[in-house]
Amino acid sequence: ESLDKGLEKSKENFFSKLGKAVAGKSTVDDELLDELEEVLITSDVGVDTTVRIIERIEERVAKDKYLNAAELNVILREEIAGLLEENNSGDQVDFELPIDKKPYVLLVVGVNGVGKTTTIGKLAAQFHKRGKSVVLGAADTFRAAAVDQLKLWGERVGVPVVAHGMNTDPSAVAYDAVKYAIEQKADIVIIDTAGRLHTKVNLMNELTKIKRVIQKFVPDAPHEIMLVLDGSTGQNAFMQAQEFTKATDVSSLAITKLDGTAKGGVVIGISDQFKIPVKYIGVGEGIEDLQVFNKNEFVDSFFN
Ligand code: GDP
Repeated sequence: ESLDKGLEKSKENFFSKLGKAVAGKSTVDDELLDELEEVLITSDVGVDTTVRIIERIEERVAKDKYLNAAELNVILREEIAGLLEENNSGDQVDFELPIDKKPYVLLVVGVNGVGKTTTIGKLAAQFHKRGKSVVLGAADTFRAAAVDQLKLWGERVGVPVVAHGMNTDPSAVAYDAVKYAIEQKADIVIIDTAGRLHTKVNLMNELTKIKRVIQKFVPDAPHEIMLVLDGSTGQNAFMQAQEFTKATDVSSLAITKLDGTAKGGVVIGISDQFKIPVKYIGVGEGIEDLQVFNKNEFVDSFFN
């Protein structure tokens, strides 16, 4: 229900455009495919993914000459579900942690303003609610606001936050956070890192150093490097994904602010283009407005 609400704008946008493209057509012709292409691109699915989807639909139209415009909806749904399936095979249904990794070390990356701190706070709340012990690490030491905000989330949720002073070494914070998590027998330690994309080499070095330091305690850590992207920023989100995947091994995505955009197609395009699973989606500012991404639910709420 809340997912439907979170994606309302995207769905309305998508279907009103699709409806207009299909109106009065009895067969899938080139003109309709051109219009469909435009609908997908303006929903921020991205050019590459749009081309893939159109090609697949063309193949199916070629096979079944009598495919009509009404059936296009069904086929489009299947193709989108198929694309999401490729990168989101083991769909989660709830906030879960692997039992054999304790503490689970989650490193969170992303540029300022995308909703990184909020997403960490929401995640902490969800795990805490499920009886997991959570430690937060404030390794974004370049912004006083980031540290303060994380501390506020810690108080709000009731979980400890490991922080040092401003401009201190981020890897020292990461070190202490993991160390503390081990001492406390915590289930998960979530480390907030600075997202300064304009200094890519610094970013890369910083993340490499953080990894090296935490591997002193947990050799296979970080278990996950999650990139947070603002779903309402379209091409910027694609660009950030490109930069961050070059700088580090991003293993999951959280796409925020889908409630505020009519361009939820960004979820489809980014997952397809970068071959990285979308793990969470943000659908509001509230503590509960973070959802485990489930491709079937996503496609259902988009198409039903
Ligand atoms: P950070 O700089 O990346 O840490 O970003 P913040 O966590 O401070 O978030 C920036 C703003 O985006 C804040 O006003 C958040 O409340 C808001 N925000 C974060 N996630 C979402 C979301 O899923 N939906 C909406 N509508 N707002 C969000």
